[in-house]
Amino acid sequence: SPRVVIIGAGIVGANLADELATRGWNNVTVLEQGPLHLAGGSTSHAPGLVFQTNASKTMTEFASYTVDKLLSLTKDGQSCFWQLGGLEVATTEERLEDLKRKLGYATSWGVEGRLIDPDECEKHYPLLDRDRVLGALYVPSDGLAQAARAVQLLIERASDAGVVFRGSTAVTGIREEGGRVTAVETNDGEVPADIVVSCAGFWGPKVGAMVGMDVPLLPLAHQYVKTTPVPELKGRNELPNGARLPILRHQDADLYYREHGERIGIGSYAHRPMPVDLDELPVFTAEQMSEHRMPSRLDFTPEDFAPSWEESQRLLPMLRGARIEDGFNGIFSFTPDGGPLIGESPDVKGFYLAEAVWVTHSAGVAKAVAELLVEGRSRTDLHECEATRFEDVQRSEAYVSETSQQNFVEIYDVLHPLQPKDSPRNLRTSPFFPRQQELGAFFLESGGWERPHWYEANAGLLAELPPAWQPPERDSWSARFHSPIAAAEAWKTRTAVALYDMTPLKRVEVSGPGALDLLQRLSTGQINKKPGAVTYCLLLDEAGGVRSDITVARIGAELFQAGINNNVDFEYLRREAADQSAADPARWVQVHDITAGTACIGLWGPLAREVISKVSDDDFSNASLKYFRTAQVRIAGLSVTAMRLSYVGELGWELYTTADQGLKLWDALFEAGQEHGIIAAGRAAFNSMRLEKGYRLFGHEMTSEHRPEEAGLGFAVKADKGPFVGSEALAVPQESGRRLRCLTIDDGRSVVLGKEPVYFQSRPAGYVTSAAFGHTIGKPIAYAWLPADAAEGEKVEIEYFGRRVAATVTAEPLVDPGMERLRG
Ligand code: FAD
Repeated sequence: SPRVVIIGAGIVGANLADELATRGWNNVTVLEQGPLHLAGGSTSHAPGLVFQTNASKTMTEFASYTVDKLLSLTKDGQSCFWQLGGLEVATTEERLEDLKRKLGYATSWGVEGRLIDPDECEKHYPLLDRDRVLGALYVPSDGLAQAARAVQLLIERASDAGVVFRGSTAVTGIREEGGRVTAVETNDGEVPADIVVSCAGFWGPKVGAMVGMDVPLLPLAHQYVKTTPVPELKGRNELPNGARLPILRHQDADLYYREHGERIGIGSYAHRPMPVDLDELPVFTAEQMSEHRMPSRLDFTPEDFAPSWEESQRLLPMLRGARIEDGFNGIFSFTPDGGPLIGESPDVKGFYLAEAVWVTHSAGVAKAVAELLVEGRSRTDLHECEATRFEDVQRSEAYVSETSQQNFVEIYDVLHPLQPKDSPRNLRTSPFFPRQQELGAFFLESGGWERPHWYEANAGLLAELPPAWQPPERDSWSARFHSPIAAAEAWKTRTAVALYDMTPLKRVEVSGPGALDLLQRLSTGQINKKPGAVTYCLLLDEAGGVRSDITVARIGAELFQAGINNNVDFEYLRREAADQSAADPARWVQVHDITAGTACIGLWGPLAREVISKVSDDDFSNASLKYFRTAQVRIAGLSVTAMRLSYVGELGWELYTTADQGLKLWDALFEAGQEHGIIAAGRAAFNSMRLEKGYRLFGHEMTSEHRPEEAGLGFAVKADKGPFVGSEALAVPQESGRRLRCLTIDDGRSVVLGKEPVYFQSRPAGYVTSAAFGHTIGKPIAYAWLPADAAEGEKVEIEYFGRRVAATVTAEPLVDPGMERLRG
């Protein structure tokens, strides 16, 4: 097997070594700068609370795997996990509601839990002030990881399997040749390597810098204290760290608790964010290192903890007789979106990250990385964790620092799924931004881009809405970051014409003599068509899982424009292009991100042709520019690439021009459209209409965990075109027993938001991927993964804030199945 060097023997590095050894890789070396028995990173002092439930399916699965693995990791009859249960209490009505939603996530992702009342809270946790709690989410399988002990047992087990662990060995440099790692340099000589995985925790940016990689992670200090012995706990637990009570979260005050024998440990996120400069960490020799002296442990700042101590004494009255005996400011990693950083560097082959990982997710992440290395892909979808997911503007030091600190502040806040950041904003704006502001756009942010969700300028249209289009009133949660104006914008799009800003959708130019080969090899589509053709297709991994969906326009013989989903796609295409060019210079190909340099308007609606014909002499008739065709045209004198496509399912075009001409294009179309009632419309209407048409969104309706057929995307695979990535896997039929289904909600008014559990035959059987009110059909829509036997017409129930909402599996698409409007 290849020579692997793992940097760091914390809970992530130790787990990865073990996972690789288990898979038969026998050439693995782990280098740790600290002594192996107490490495001195975050793991060395982690209290080890494992609350599994997370809004992310991937993160929840990582946590559940970690629980299972630590339970099975035993020595002297003792495992490394105490399954004490997890209790997240609510002291506000808002939190109590949020816990219902959280129970929904647990159910969706297969973790058993239940909401309990104050009486039951008291039964599980007699030390609580019963009158302060309104209820709790109780998850019996949560508990305490013995992180430091687990590291030692993993080191033992992996060493037995042949992994070499070297303590007191600091990695000081990484050697590369021809764009791939060859060795690491240490204070104790060089170690040759084909693969280097940085499991360096919050030291990640330092290690990344060794290969010129910006690692978007901020080390922050977080306060943890232990109290003096509490009489109520005397004699109950083994000393010094035994525990019997469930682990406890008091999120309304940013606090969490566990027992340490007779003491209570308290962690706080209530204090100011405390960023740490890696160059100013305390330095200890191996001999000096102890439980109290390690680089990841900074001096306690009692004034920061004072409010948390008062609040803790209110929640747990028995603490009134106790003091804080021992406290520290412990360091660990935060990232701009709170997710971990996993995957290979886009520039240096063989250099991987597995960083910004909690103990909670450690074994799950290690398993995913081991699968990535050994099998070429992780079985768990990684799109939310990919190290390359951040856009360039999101990798600046200032951005990483501000957003990571904000994540610290908001870590336990009740956040709406659509809630945008307050800052930093206006990082990226399309050329239409001034007009959008004039029209009162309500902006949400994505990938640094400002994206209009609706326009207040359209509020007057609500008075004109025909009764059938009047949206029902929403509950207070689904009404947040939403406006009924979306209904008016959808109505205008379906009955007249609207402009959509499509600029933020990432796009690349693929060019060169090898361009066609590259796209043919990586995608499922038949790209070898005449210039002018547009193809919707998928990027698969080797196992046939969906990595992304893309739309490829052939502009010329050796020139393509592809609409892609994110930076992960871009880096994938860019790297594959570089490899192909290096392997065969005659087939060189280059992939260039043209998103920022171009602008795109979606001009859609039954009157779109009337509008465009007023400002262009080109022929936009069906005969001349068919559905899924592209042409170079002039609009108001501007050079435009027109593509006859529509994600909202109406007649119209995506119109691309250079960024400098964007505003002129907008103004020309907007003016020409006045007599046809043109409006600017936003993402809320867009999302509703895409679901009405059954258009899938990557990361929601499909991920690498799904094959095209089960996601209803079989049509995008041209199996007979010759080999492509994933084709061999697809050739072997596989029945997963699940399908992506379209649901309509029976009461015609209950709008859900996504990720809610779906019950079929009275059992939790799947989860919602995307949802919206379908303005055209006058009913809410939800797409969901469900067992294959939940066929059309079957009744299901969606659980929304603890309430069951009846829904029906419905034939799709819900609007224009005959495609008359699109081809109009
Ligand atoms: P680390 O444990 O930091 O390991 C990284 C290792 O890399 C270190 O040992 C370091 O010495 C080594 N290293 C770095 N650079 C080099 C180099 N150049 N050469 C060689 N070796 C190098 N998480 C939970 O899930 N539950 C909790 O309850 C919890 N509570 C926490 C409480 C506190 C106070 C803190 C600070 C963190 C807490 N965490 C908790 C977070 C958790 O501790 C960390 O996320 C986790 O331990 C990180 O593991 P790791 O292996 O990635 O990093």
